[in-house]
Amino acid sequence: MAEVTLKNLVKEYRDDKRTTFRAVKGINLEIRDREFMVLVGPSGCGKSTSLRMIAGLEDITDGEISIGDRVVNDVQPKDRDIAMVFQNYALYPHMTVFDNMAFGLKLLKYPRDEIKKRVDDAADILGLESMLDRKPKQLSGGQRQRVAVGRAIVRKPKVFLFDEPLSNLDAKMRVQMRTEISKLHARLNATMIYVTHDQVEAMTMGDRICVMKDGNIMQVAEPLDLYNRP
Ligand code: ADP
Ligand code: ADP
Repeated sequence: MAEVTLKNLVKEYRDDKRTTFRAVKGINLEIRDREFMVLVGPSGCGKSTSLRMIAGLEDITDGEISIGDRVVNDVQPKDRDIAMVFQNYALYPHMTVFDNMAFGLKLLKYPRDEIKKRVDDAADILGLESMLDRKPKQLSGGQRQRVAVGRAIVRKPKVFLFDEPLSNLDAKMRVQMRTEISKLHARLNATMIYVTHDQVEAMTMGDRICVMKDGNIMQVAEPLDLYNRP
């Protein structure tokens, strides 16, 4: 069964002069339950816009998005059973690692014990146990990105969305985090949608890869089949 379904999804941006620009041109895509789907393509092709529409962070111009068996077009981001990991980590600089990971659950009024358990579990998965009292500026880039991932994990969402999460890391750390995110996918058994412009990332991480260009989907295939089309 499809976990996330995009039907004729359109995004138009309107500029000051009231002209419209079609960033996403009516795409159709079914992402399977527990699949790791990579959206790949050159800068500006509409990957991030598509992801942000799935997250509910961007209004959709036309079409339909379903998560599970529910159409979510009018559902608030916090009620979509998704969690998103951003490129710039989006951590709160004045809060500890623990509080950064706990913040979303606190807003949702989870009980303290449950918050502590979930944060501890996420820290264990990500190797952040000894970092919980630190502030983001006392962490390396890779550790910061782990905190950002931890903040998504504690929500226990059905669907994880990643928007170029590794692009601020150096080459060595990128390779390491690539492996860690793949392991995380196996361990959590969640559906993951991962946006990148990096073809190597796409080929090594994706169960399937969706290639976008100019607001359209050009191809959806497993890595090995991607370039083998007749
Ligand atoms: P990608 O993630 O593939 O790099 P984006 O989805 O960010 O591409 O952008 C797709 C297109 O939409 C680009 O041409 C970009 O300039 C345009 N765009 C993105 N966000 C906005 C915005 N807020 N207002 C106007 N145009 C935008
Ligand atoms: P607030 O002031 O918003 O209530 P607290 O700092 O009191 O937040 O922390 C809320 C919960 O998180 C408490 O149960 C606290 O024990 C736990 N907590 C905070 N920091 C840590 C940490 N570094 N390690 C383990 N638990 C922590």
